[in-house]
Amino acid sequence: MKADQLRALAADPRFISGIYNYCDRWCERCTLSDRCLTYAMERSEDDPDEWGRARDLSNEKFWDNLHRQLQATIETVRADAKARGIDLDEPKLQAKVIAQERAERRRATKNLPLARAAMAYANAANKWVENASPVFRSKGFELETLARLETGNPEAEAAEMAEFVEIIRWYQHFIYVKLSRAIGSRANEELETDEEMKTFPKDSDGSAKIALVAMDRSIAAWSGLRLALTGADDDEILDLLAQLTAVRREAEKLFPQARAFVRPGFDEQR
Ligand code: SF4
Repeated sequence: MKADQLRALAADPRFISGIYNYCDRWCERCTLSDRCLTYAMERSEDDPDEWGRARDLSNEKFWDNLHRQLQATIETVRADAKARGIDLDEPKLQAKVIAQERAERRRATKNLPLARAAMAYANAANKWVENASPVFRSKGFELETLARLETGNPEAEAAEMAEFVEIIRWYQHFIYVKLSRAIGSRANEELETDEEMKTFPKDSDGSAKIALVAMDRSIAAWSGLRLALTGADDDEILDLLAQLTAVRREAEKLFPQARAFVRPGFDEQR
């Protein structure tokens, strides 16, 4: 997609400005994908049948698409900056940006334990899923027996468990990524000197909010999985629940306004 095509697409009033900044990137399940510019940009590169394949991270086409979109975005930003008399390659400006980034990194350091805790949870969740085959195999035998006896609803139970695992997998790294962004943005906001800028909704709160939403859903999924697998692996799942609950508690402490942040599209009355 070229810069002028991107600009024309972005001008379409059906899109909700910034909706993609605080979503969970689960486009297949998104109820607002028809209002999302990012989704439309990605779709415009492919026909619908190819879309699923193109989103496969191992697929070359996915990376080609991403590269093209980045190029178009960079061109648009450069053109807009030039129109405002700003030269993005100007050495003084670049030095200022580097100094700002350094200052932000220094400030963010104090909040890094939260990001590390989120990463520790992601690794622990990964390990659990990787070692869970025997637990699921045994549950599978149990459900097969129920099916043979025509008792209960084993198909629904199996589908529900698959759903819990999918939710856990989708969010396990996402939580770390979004909390890291919230911590970085918090450092940037603390260094802000412009009084008007300080009054705007904070990216740190928006990023923390979607991380909290992801944690809420993951905790619900772990709880559901624990019930479904009663008797098997109770303690390990309980440990993971405790670990994630602690991360959520710390995130709420560090970003007390996050729950109240209004995400474009998702938290607005439509
Ligand atoms: S808003 Fe919805 S469609 Fe757009 S990037 Fe986020 S999840 Fe995907």
